[in-house]
Amino acid sequence: MILGILKESLAGESRVALVPESLRPLVAQGLSITVEAGAGERAGAADEAYAEAGATFTADRRWILENADLLPVLHVPPPIEQKWLKPGVAMIGFLRPLEAPDALAEAVERGASLFSMELIPRITRAQSMDALSSMATVAGYKAVLLAADRLPRLFPMLITAAGTIPPARVFVIGAGVAGLQAIATARRLGAVVEAYDIRAAAGEQVRSLGARFLEVDLGGIRTEGGGGYAAELTEEALDRGRELIARTAARTDAIVTTAQVPGRPAPQLIGRAAVEGMRGGSVIVDLAAPAGGNCELTQPGMTQTIATRSGGEVTLLAPLNLAAEVPVDASQLYARNIASFLGVIVKNGVLSIDLRDEILAGACVAHAGRVVHPRVAALLGAPVQEVELTR
Ligand code: NAD
Repeated sequence: MILGILKESLAGESRVALVPESLRPLVAQGLSITVEAGAGERAGAADEAYAEAGATFTADRRWILENADLLPVLHVPPPIEQKWLKPGVAMIGFLRPLEAPDALAEAVERGASLFSMELIPRITRAQSMDALSSMATVAGYKAVLLAADRLPRLFPMLITAAGTIPPARVFVIGAGVAGLQAIATARRLGAVVEAYDIRAAAGEQVRSLGARFLEVDLGGIRTEGGGGYAAELTEEALDRGRELIARTAARTDAIVTTAQVPGRPAPQLIGRAAVEGMRGGSVIVDLAAPAGGNCELTQPGMTQTIATRSGGEVTLLAPLNLAAEVPVDASQLYARNIASFLGVIVKNGVLSIDLRDEILAGACVAHAGRVVHPRVAALLGAPVQEVELTR
């Protein structure tokens, strides 16, 4: 059985799906691994390191697409390349099935078994496969460094012979995985940190990191959806959060905002007036940009400056793929998530897909030429199709 590792073709992508360190158990099972030349170059994994780990490499990308039985990826290859896929290939990655289901059509047609990292259920057994958390951890860290770099102030309090510099004030919106890492990073840099989340459970975690948790009376509504995620709120409930955010923004030097609701556009929480009410020189890093952003003014992928009412400008950054800016460690973590997932679908070197397994049932988008995930099928206006559950 052939496992292929592609050089990711998406612009700005510098991570790789598997690093050489993750190959040994796969090689030991008798898998033949072919790496596209240069695949790990930007992630600190040279072709020679893959070769030492037992892989071969080729510059012929099409050969990999046509021959691989297993294809771990970061992103789904473009439709033109999906046409070359080996029928029945198992592909796993950030396939964005709820955001862009149409982009998978050719792969479904080829009979690929498509597994989405985003849809892996958040159960204890799947924790080691949780690539969303891995990448959110990296992005939360990097977002704070971006903010610190742009801010015309220091983060820590400094007591010097020339006087005392007060610490920067950082506000983190959404205290999930990325938000908590942002809080921890900002605290390590010496900032005073406040955070807001609609899930009450986040409060204890925020406080344990030495930050202040801001609470809003949302009238006792349900704020948790399934799987530890947030529920989508009404406009009225969102407004209560917006008021608190605007008030807090006015005393904040840097905002890192991460609020998301899976499969939905990100809630708009920071209005224009709140941005314009910030102090000149302040920075906003909108990590929800891939889902549209938490700030009304966000243009995903762009960096903007916005004039404030008191003079000066706010810098608004809306990075789309921040984890890719830390490619070495992001790839290490992702590769471990992939290797752990492969442990479920590869038994003794053979592809063995049992869709009765809770993890596979949750993550599988398509199998044997059919869309099997109900939410994806609904988005495509297609009926969910019955398939044989084991192969
Ligand atoms: P996420 O990326 O979907 O959202 C980020 C945060 O935004 C969440 O904390 C959410 O509550 C918050 N949010 C949503 N709408 C908001 C709004 N209107 N205002 C303010 N905040 C809002 O979530 P995530 O970071 O992937 O994880 C969410 C939770 O799941 C966390 O508690 C995390 O610890 C938990 N989790 C559990 C597991 C597991 O059990 N295996 C794995 C990873 C994460």
